[in-house]
Amino acid sequence: MIGIADTGQAETDLTLGTLPCPSCAAPLQPWGHARARSVRDHGTTTVSLRPRRARCRTCGGTHVLLPAVVAPRRADTTAVIGSALQASASGTGYRRIAAQLQRPLSTVRRWIRAGRDPAHVEWLRAQALNWLAQVDRDVIADLAPQPTQLGEALDALAAAAISLRTRVAPHIPPWTLIGQITHGRLVTRPG
Ligand SMILES: [Zn+2]
Repeated sequence: MIGIADTGQAETDLTLGTLPCPSCAAPLQPWGHARARSVRDHGTTTVSLRPRRARCRTCGGTHVLLPAVVAPRRADTTAVIGSALQASASGTGYRRIAAQLQRPLSTVRRWIRAGRDPAHVEWLRAQALNWLAQVDRDVIADLAPQPTQLGEALDALAAAAISLRTRVAPHIPPWTLIGQITHGRLVTRPG
């Protein structure tokens, strides 16, 4: 699985043979599409997508190019999961978040739990700082302290998304970029 922030660009790269295989770095070729899936966005809106599949001629590996607007194995968009984390970081309880986002309590609770795992939250922040170090090092020094560790991580991720948007991908929504920066693992703990 390869996370893709800009599906149009990925399609172009695939056609031109400039999208590298994650296993061996040889160029990937278009290889049909994966099963269509639909994910829930804010409220009752759904997003339907049919991810592109690609194959490497050198090592024979196949990869799904999953748009970063969704996270692997999640039924909700990165934007919905992100707003739950944001609300949690500013002190809103999970029952209220579930009601606001119209999502089951158990689902929201799982997200919030990941947002309270110090190791995971530190990992999220590190992903943001990695990107900032590459695109906009000065921003790192300007990050203001936040009351919670999750708040710090989300603030750094927002800053990284804004930098990327300004410099590289002005047409990509910030949460999609955050999905890309966090490799689709906003609430998926390592291991
Ligand atoms: Zn390969």
